Amino acid sequence: MIVVKVGGSVGIDLAALCQDIGELVRNGQQLVLVHGGSARTNEVAAQLGHPPQFVTSVSGFTSRRTDRETLRIFEMVYCGEVNKGIVEMLQAQGVNAVGLSGIDGRLLSGRRKEAIKIVDERGRRMVLRDDYTGTVEQVNTSLIELLLENGYLPVITPPAISDQNEAINVDGDRAAALIASSLKAEKLIILSNVPGLLRNFPDESSLIRQIDAAQVGQFMEHAQGRMRIKVLGAIEAIEQGVRQVVFADGRIAKPLSAALAGGGTVIG
Ligand code: ADP
Repeated sequence: MIVVKVGGSVGIDLAALCQDIGELVRNGQQLVLVHGGSARTNEVAAQLGHPPQFVTSVSGFTSRRTDRETLRIFEMVYCGEVNKGIVEMLQAQGVNAVGLSGIDGRLLSGRRKEAIKIVDERGRRMVLRDDYTGTVEQVNTSLIELLLENGYLPVITPPAISDQNEAINVDGDRAAALIASSLKAEKLIILSNVPGLLRNFPDESSLIRQIDAAQVGQFMEHAQGRMRIKVLGAIEAIEQGVRQVVFADGRIAKPLSAALAGGGTVIG
């Protein structure tokens, strides 16, 4: 069993991915798909007059500012347009996909951050208290297994649900990492709009092909912006027993087959 996370950035070819999944599933591959939707959420939020904002935590991780209105737009795009779009494409491939958010059946549950400490552009520290973001702490593996055992392919998206039963925006890469370790998956494949982890971003010829599992922490220095969370997710997955994590290109034909054949950055 493998867990595949596909990002929501510009350039990712979801149709090519779904076609590839169709072929792999027909050849007996069992998998769970986790997806994002960031670029489309930015567009829709701007169209609805609530433009996206991003904040950087004091520890240097960037995340979407998620007030109540943003959460509403986030759900429209992630759980609506993107999730149902993927399910429709997989159904067209003969794959019986079921789309679920982390709220459904408490698939992904965790803690809402009471306050997030951020640094603004001028380096000033601030505390946000009305943000609906958090961290996934538990995966309802029995719900996922129920689907897999009955021949369904789960298509999972944030948000997650908090202990106080609020929807919370959680990072998709870290959620996928916890799903992979909780399901004891052999591999976690993270598809994005880059060929993998680049030593000198954005130079695509500087792709790092192999990272020893014990050394992955040292590679954080190469990651900037959003890539930092992916590296963090990879570290968490490896620490929790996933044998291999691959960062691979989601813009190409047969993106998953290419990643399974050794393409991208292989960790482990
Ligand atoms: P997704 O939406 O696919 O989850 P993100 O946009 O969140 O992807 O994160 C991937 C982005 O990280 C890339 O598009 C790239 O702009 C950025 N990035 C920063 N540093 C690196 C690096 N060293 N190697 C690859 N990508 C990097």
